Order: sequence, then C-alpha cells, then structure tokens
Amino acid sequence: MPRRLTSPIVIATHNPGKLAEMRELLAPYRIEAQSAGELGLAEPEETGKTFAENARIKALAAANAAGRTAFADDSGLVVDTLNGEPGIYSARWAGPNKDFGIAMNRIQTLLIERSAKAPEQRRAHFAAALCLAWPDGHTEEFAGRVDGVVVWPPRGDKGFGYDPLFKPDGFDTTFGEMSAEQKHGLPPKGQGLSHRARAFMTLADACLR
Ligand code: IMP
Repeated sequence: MPRRLTSPIVIATHNPGKLAEMRELLAPYRIEAQSAGELGLAEPEETGKTFAENARIKALAAANAAGRTAFADDSGLVVDTLNGEPGIYSARWAGPNKDFGIAMNRIQTLLIERSAKAPEQRRAHFAAALCLAWPDGHTEEFAGRVDGVVVWPPRGDKGFGYDPLFKPDGFDTTFGEMSAEQKHGLPPKGQGLSHRARAFMTLADACLR
C-alpha cells in the first residue's frame, strides 16, 4: 500500500524551471510546498548511476534536513545515437553558468560527427524519476518518459533546459514552442505529455488519490 502524501512538503530542487513545473503539477492537490532553495537546504552531490538513484539521494537528503516529506525529480535528455548521453549528466553539460546553448550545441556537434542528420538517427527521450521520501527513510518512486527527436536549430523560448531541442512524437512543435499546459498539463485540460507529467500521474494515482 503506497504511503499518502500530505502537507507540508519540501520540493527538493534548486532548478527554477523544474520547481515551477513541480509546483504546477501539485497545485490541484492543494499540497503546501516550499522549495529546498527557499528553506536554505544544501544541494547533495548526485553520485547515483541512474535517474532513480539520484532522485532518491535528493529526496532523502531534503527529508532529513527539513524533517518533512520531500519530493525530488531527477531527469534528463537521453540521445540514442550518443549512447544515452547526456542522460544523468544533462545538467552538467550546461556547465557552471547553466548555459544550455552550449549544451545543445554540443549535442548537435556530436550528432553531426556521427553523420546523424535524418530524424531516425536523432531519436531521443526525456526521462524523469520522481521520489517521495519521508524523514523515517520510507520512499515511493515513479518514472516517466516521452519519446521524440532532436531538432536543429533549437526552436522556441518557452520552458527550460533542452526544451527547444526536443520535438515529441506526434507533434510539429518542440517543447520550447509549447505552452506549459501543452507540455505538462494534466487531464482533463492537458494530456500529461512530458516525462515529468507522466511520472507524476502514476505518483498521483498512488499517493494523492
Ligand atoms: P537534474 O535532474 O537536476 O540532474 O537536471 C536535469 C537536467 O535535465 C535539467 O537541468 C535540464 O537540463 C534537463 N531537463 C530535465 N527535464 C527537462 C525538461 O522538461 N525540459 C528540458 N530540459 C530538461
């Protein structure tokens, strides 16, 4: 039986783009949430080898430090032709200045080095691992992904991170060209398209019903 999520919680991220999406996902459930940044919590080192391990590290660190339930996301862009890179290193590819122009250029350069021009050679997915952790060490974990292609040049100025580079299957627009509602709105208004929204729907089913 999954454990139920109740207020107040801490959202274990220092990434403003992710924080905004996580707040929007929680909004209909009226969960009172502060972020790790707002509470002045330190960012733990992400030493895991998978998205799930890193989400667990972040959630448990925040739950221990804040003494309340924590909600963490670890996510990234997985490019097939690049053997899954940048994957769990997606944030790190943007460097200390969090410059995603540099990170997107690096992906394009590596794809061109591999002569990957056709869409079928540019397959990718966004992956998200979500973890809820309680101060007693209990965790609940969920995963989601959305498949698509890496486009070039990047398109759109909405969203964050690699959004302008990623066009999900079945759409003509990149995540960077989509409204927040299109990208991660939940039914009945949205269709729960993004990796994070998909993982969140399983979380909501298990822990928020
Ligand atoms: P981390 O989970 O904090 O290690 O960082 C994940 C990184 O993956 C973010 O900094 C973004 O660069 C990228 N990422 C994860 N989710 C998304 C998304 O929905 N859109 C664009 N980039 C994302």
